Amino acid sequence: MARVTVVGAGVIGLTTADALLEAGHEVRVVAAALGTGITSAAAGAIWFPFRSDPPTTVNRWAAMTRTWETQLAATTPEAGIDVLMQEVYADTPERPWWAGAVDDLGDPIIGRPEAPYLWRFAAPRVEPATFCAWLERRLAGRITIAQVSSLNEVEGDIVVNCTGLGARRLCGDSLLKGVWGQTTIVDGEGLDLSLSISDERDEATFFYSIPRRREVVLGGCAIEEFGETPSPPTQAWRAKILERAAAHGIVAKRVLRDSSGLRPYRSAVRLEREGRVIHNYGHGGSGYTLCRGCALDVVQLVST
Ligand SMILES: Cc1cc2nc3c(=O)[nH]c(=O)nc-3n(C[C@H](O)[C@H](O)[C@H](O)COP(=O)(O)OP(=O)(O)OC[C@H]3O[C@@H](n4cnc5c(N)ncnc54)[C@H](O)[C@@H]3O)c2cc1C
Repeated sequence: MARVTVVGAGVIGLTTADALLEAGHEVRVVAAALGTGITSAAAGAIWFPFRSDPPTTVNRWAAMTRTWETQLAATTPEAGIDVLMQEVYADTPERPWWAGAVDDLGDPIIGRPEAPYLWRFAAPRVEPATFCAWLERRLAGRITIAQVSSLNEVEGDIVVNCTGLGARRLCGDSLLKGVWGQTTIVDGEGLDLSLSISDERDEATFFYSIPRRREVVLGGCAIEEFGETPSPPTQAWRAKILERAAAHGIVAKRVLRDSSGLRPYRSAVRLEREGRVIHNYGHGGSGYTLCRGCALDVVQLVST
């Protein structure tokens, strides 16, 4: 058993701390912030590999996370996870790069008016606020709010760095980039809450729809942005998102609010051990899609 301090309490830090606790370690979490205001609160969040690399490892982590989240959906409603149908639009029948993460992916559907080819599979959808609060309860008494300025100063046999975009400054990692996204959250009344859509064929019309239990998250955009905090949502993006939603047959009765965040994108997710520090950051647009697979790799690295 090791004394482990996890730095960061977004979806990656909380899931990692939870897996370490489950493995019998003595776990503490230190984070500058929790809950709303961090990137993890800005996510949809559907299980779907998006803007994260490299494909082979991402698919392995994603498959492990899909299995875990699907089990949680069946056994633990208070975790805020439900399994929806996910449809991904495509122009060609070529198998997508993420196909390796979906072991039951069949052939694409053809002949539907929305797109020449349509990939369809069951995908867990996580309600970020409910899921993170559930993890925080499992870690009750172990979380401290504090800014860390050097990983060397953090106590513990092992320190796990789950600081997301914060790692850019903390580790001087210039490979980390913020990728801005705005979502517009609408009332779910009258909308299909069982179907999630992703249409990333064209940057200019990029669109996704992620139903939650009572509302629907509409997006999107993926724009590289410098700086540590995301630009606020704009009316212009809201208008574009609602226009794209209408083009996909989604017309909401009421807009509830807008949100924005910076996806912590890195050319390769950094998951490696460096002395007593294990890094686990840079999950781009897939934090909820990779969290458990990455957490289990961290558990293994603790004992190497
Ligand atoms: C618009 C949008 C939509 C998205 N949709 C999806 C989706 O549908 N599915 C999906 O899988 N993913 C989605 N994502 C991506 C997902 O949100 C991220 O991959 C994920 O939140 C990253 O989590 P994290 O824990 O690494 O980072 P964060 O949530 O940013 O957490 C970092 C933590 O580290 C702490 N920290 C940072 N620096 C320090 C420091 N120096 N000292 C102490 N603490 C520190 C912070 O306070 C925070 O607690 C979306 C993202 C955006 C922006």
